[in-house]
Amino acid sequence: MKSLTNLFRIGNGPSSSHTIAPFHAAVAFKRLLPSEATAVRATLYGSLALTGLGHMSQKAIIDALAPIPVEVVPSLQEAKGHPNTLLFEAFRGNEVVLTRHYASLGGGEITSTDDDSVNEKDIYPFRSLAEIKDFMNKGRLHSFKDFCLCYEDPSIVDYFKRVLGLMFASVERGLAATGRIAADKNPRLQVSRNAAAIYGRAKRITDEGSKRTMLISAYAYAVAEESACGGLVVTAPTCGSSGVLPAILYYERKNLRRPLAAILDSLFTAGIVGNLVKQNASISGAIGGCQAEIGTAASMAAAALCFIEGESLYQSEYAAECAMEHFLGLSCDPVDGFVIIPCIERNGMGALRAMDAFLYSRYIAPLKRNQVSFDNVVGAMKLTGDSLAAAYKETAEGGLAEILKDGR
Ligand code: SF4
Repeated sequence: MKSLTNLFRIGNGPSSSHTIAPFHAAVAFKRLLPSEATAVRATLYGSLALTGLGHMSQKAIIDALAPIPVEVVPSLQEAKGHPNTLLFEAFRGNEVVLTRHYASLGGGEITSTDDDSVNEKDIYPFRSLAEIKDFMNKGRLHSFKDFCLCYEDPSIVDYFKRVLGLMFASVERGLAATGRIAADKNPRLQVSRNAAAIYGRAKRITDEGSKRTMLISAYAYAVAEESACGGLVVTAPTCGSSGVLPAILYYERKNLRRPLAAILDSLFTAGIVGNLVKQNASISGAIGGCQAEIGTAASMAAAALCFIEGESLYQSEYAAECAMEHFLGLSCDPVDGFVIIPCIERNGMGALRAMDAFLYSRYIAPLKRNQVSFDNVVGAMKLTGDSLAAAYKETAEGGLAEILKDGR
């Protein structure tokens, strides 16, 4: 398992796998460019080709390689190896002088068979929560923070302070922003930013339960709208699902005044949950459908909430499992390939599901032994994702994307 710093990445939306990853692949390729190169061609495969325009892949690549002229070509041919592949070719005149392949794995991570500089290394010698819990029991480690600090560089604590600050900043920017979310000519995608209006209404609600629901929704919308507009966010675990965890953490801090230190440390709990999904299934909508993005984000947020609220490790696991279990099979069907419909609203629902899973862990988990472990549900997510048709994996060819195609 890799460092949690690779799970919580800082970057611009709207998509970690389609914007941040292509940007980093282009930066890596630029470092290798021979001085005689005069132009670059980037060929995108798989869902990168099908939804790259809506995810600003082209702009990310051109920005990263500037001032070198770049042609970005979507290809409908199947890539060899990973489905979400980028092929970079550098030219001197008509002659190809350098070629490299990169694959976008989800959450902004890239890998390469011919540029090892981008391949991230494992630092945790564990593959499952069962193994981690066993290690923690033997070492009398009481929190995921204690566990993580056995393997992470101590600088991760400062990195998490930055991450939390950026998460909260993205909530606040989103709550203050108005205007429209840029999309293409599809009339159904000319949507206004709604977070500020939702927040305004939420503050006036007098019923406490409804108020909590709408405040959390406003925070989730705020970050998701920032991400959709290309703003700076933290992948948690992806840009498309970046509103879920910050919404819960911001609510805990701003509305419930929970200690900042506990909220900061909850990132370790959320991080282990997200990392286990990333390692054993996927956090990429293009690989596993939206269960991999919003499902994982809800699972991370539910576990973090348990930690902040002082619940046991067992209850954190229960909440993470419960949040994921009821998102199994969720398809990724972004309309016209833009991270707007259903993605923004789905962040709100993901955050609310995390709160529900926390409440189940508090009030139901102590009554019975859970029959489904977190490792079980991650296994089920992988099986489900593998059997989902390509139309439901960020290709904009199925579900809502098909029904609402081109303004139909
Ligand atoms: S539908 Fe879900 S997985 Fe797909 S782009 Fe939107 S948020 Fe990401």
